[in-house]
Amino acid sequence: MGTQKKQLKICIIGAGFTGLAAAYYLSKAGHLVEVFEKESQPGGLAIGFQDPNWEWPLEQHYHHWFESDWAIRNLATEIGHSVTFTRPVTSTWINGRISQLDSPISLLKFSHLSMEARLRTAVGLAGLRFNPFWQPFEYFTAKSYIRAIMGEASWKDLWEPLFVGKFDKYAGDISAAWLWARIYKRSPTLGYPEGGFLSFAKSLELAAINYGAKFYYHHPVSHINELLPQFDKVICTLPTPLFEKISGLTYPKLEGIGAVNLVLALKHQFLTDGSYWLNINDRKMPFLAVVEHTNFIEPKHYGGEHLLYVGNYLPSNHEFFRLSENDLVQKFLPYLKMISPKFTQSWIRKSWAFKAPFAQPIITKNYSQLIPPLSTSISNLYLANIQQVYPWDRGTNYAVELGRQVADLCLKK
Ligand SMILES: Cc1cc2nc3c(=O)[nH]c(=O)nc-3n(C[C@H](O)[C@H](O)[C@H](O)COP(=O)(O)OP(=O)(O)OC[C@H]3O[C@@H](n4cnc5c(N)ncnc54)[C@H](O)[C@@H]3O)c2cc1C
Repeated sequence: MGTQKKQLKICIIGAGFTGLAAAYYLSKAGHLVEVFEKESQPGGLAIGFQDPNWEWPLEQHYHHWFESDWAIRNLATEIGHSVTFTRPVTSTWINGRISQLDSPISLLKFSHLSMEARLRTAVGLAGLRFNPFWQPFEYFTAKSYIRAIMGEASWKDLWEPLFVGKFDKYAGDISAAWLWARIYKRSPTLGYPEGGFLSFAKSLELAAINYGAKFYYHHPVSHINELLPQFDKVICTLPTPLFEKISGLTYPKLEGIGAVNLVLALKHQFLTDGSYWLNINDRKMPFLAVVEHTNFIEPKHYGGEHLLYVGNYLPSNHEFFRLSENDLVQKFLPYLKMISPKFTQSWIRKSWAFKAPFAQPIITKNYSQLIPPLSTSISNLYLANIQQVYPWDRGTNYAVELGRQVADLCLKK
């Protein structure tokens, strides 16, 4: 990797998967790496937490890998961390009931759309799945693609509630390239690292430490200028608005949206049909997805408990960012009962609320023209963050790819 022979002293800001991957590849290449992270553990948006009753930690926000996530799968193999793959069920809550929707057959059986709308939806999805060229999709929105190919009914009944739930006021602005990436690359079979994403992040941290990297936790960086004279290279992995604050540089504004996840440890299974992922297509419900982690990964790793995420993507000024887990439980309870009528508050042993103000970049038309470059106007300072992942939708796999890319660049320049 790289052409540079001299041993460099390199600082990495942030121990999410971009920072971890960059630290691993650079220390493996023989350089002196120091990582500064404001939290107490590695993992960033994929970080986990652990209840004393559980054998494994759990992600604060639901996480899994797809079969096509080769960068991170290969890295897991390289560092000897095992990963299991299974095919869980994905369903949709629509018209007051749960309907499986995760394969061509289930789409054809999806009685909430007319047969014509189902067939047009299948054609539109095939046009994304089997087309390897993403560039033409940059020029129009997902909304216009869906309405033109899949039809108005498919947009209104199936897609619009999900786009509004995920992107709020930006729902109509999302690029068709974003939709293409999700349909083209994602698989119904999902992967999960042994012990969860926090365990995997710690394995990667340890692999970098074994090559000499040093990690400093509870160490927020507030001024990059102070670090630049101490290091040959500095790589920052924070979202651009945070990078602007600590570097003094300015960039054209790119929007993002936050996430709020309520996690419930339950005494009983919630989605008794076995669904792992339930998209909520009814925007009168105050959440976008109900994800029963233990319908994907066995409850035995969590003391036999059933773990449920009640998830939302929201602008960071939304009231849910200010509510406690208890307030969220009270707000969601009547709606959760509609989905699983036997469910009562007495099923909940414990609840947690996790909030990420910058969780998902807003990918608009012609996004390739808007992405900030990895190099910055300050020499030896690099930016590698979630907003530069494109055309793929952000994910830990692409964080690893980006970490490797910025490591290579840093050694070339
Ligand atoms: C709700 C949700 C669901 C997701 N689902 C999936 C999924 O199923 N599969 C998947 O692969 N990916 C998923 N992702 C995406 C994935 O988590 C991210 O793409 C990935 O973790 C981004 O890594 P990163 O290192 O680029 O950024 P981050 O994870 O944001 O890392 C940045 C790091 O910088 C630290 N930091 C911030 N400020 C400072 C400072 N001033 N000084 C020092 N450190 C600082 C942060 O604490 C953090 O650790 C999901 C994300 C969310 C929010």
